[in-house]
Amino acid sequence: MKFTIALDVGGTHMRIALFPENSLVPVRQTRVRTYSDGTTGWERILPLIEEMTRNGETVDAIGIAVPGSIDPRSGVILTAVNLPEWVGLPIPDLIEEATGIPAFMGNDANLAAIGEWQYGAGQGHQDLIYMTISTGIGGGVISNGHLLEGHLGLAGELGHVTLLPDGPLCNCGQRGHLEALSSGSAISAYVAEQLKAGQPSSVQPGADTRAISLAAKEGDNLAKKAFERAGYYLGLAITNYLLVFNPSIVILGGGVSMTGDLLLDPVRKTVKESVISEHYLQDLVITQAALGDDAGLYGALAFARASLRS
Ligand SMILES: [Zn+2]
Repeated sequence: MKFTIALDVGGTHMRIALFPENSLVPVRQTRVRTYSDGTTGWERILPLIEEMTRNGETVDAIGIAVPGSIDPRSGVILTAVNLPEWVGLPIPDLIEEATGIPAFMGNDANLAAIGEWQYGAGQGHQDLIYMTISTGIGGGVISNGHLLEGHLGLAGELGHVTLLPDGPLCNCGQRGHLEALSSGSAISAYVAEQLKAGQPSSVQPGADTRAISLAAKEGDNLAKKAFERAGYYLGLAITNYLLVFNPSIVILGGGVSMTGDLLLDPVRKTVKESVISEHYLQDLVITQAALGDDAGLYGALAFARASLRS
């Protein structure tokens, strides 16, 4: 029997799993810190691969999801804020040289889109938008049954579109991006700012999105307003994506999406009110992701299997 290895590299942890052919149930998996002794040389992947194949399993491919942008032609990492040591290196080639196993690497949000498409909420759709809403906002677009990569693999940066030119500062340094208005950190920052301005609320200063969502469910007005505002801007962004990509499904993943209707209700309302034609809403599904934290790992698996076939 042949096996495929999937690796999901995050800012703090890496997860690796060994999947038998045609199966979604890993026979072996482990999770380690991304940084060890303060370093994260790409060579740290090699002992993990060895551990996965400790009984001599034959591996046909390795799929790797990383938080950065990767040139799809050369496999070179162009940018990766959390993995500066990996930038400029053709990691898939280096892994293949060291192990003899073909390796395929992609942006984690792009691969999560593939994961939800192949194995999660997006099964059966050919035009899909996936967004991950957590501390930041990332995404991926499947168009006509293909991952949209763009000229240099930079497509799908759905969190850094400008919605308010003079709006709040984004993590990227620009102003008024979706990420600065609808991400978890944006929701927390908005509540903190309103508390400072004297708005009455049961929410404590410094509260995270989860605490704010609990307060909103208990009827706290400021907390409710924070989610309505985040959902409103997310809805505006999604309306823009509908016009450009005409998807049949928009899947929202990441920690903030776990709040469910608290975020989804204002999103759906805004989309309905701001879209230019009812036709964009025909068959359209706006829903929560199905794979949760596993989307990146399953995306890496689907990506490796698909890359091997093509
Ligand atoms: Zn930005």
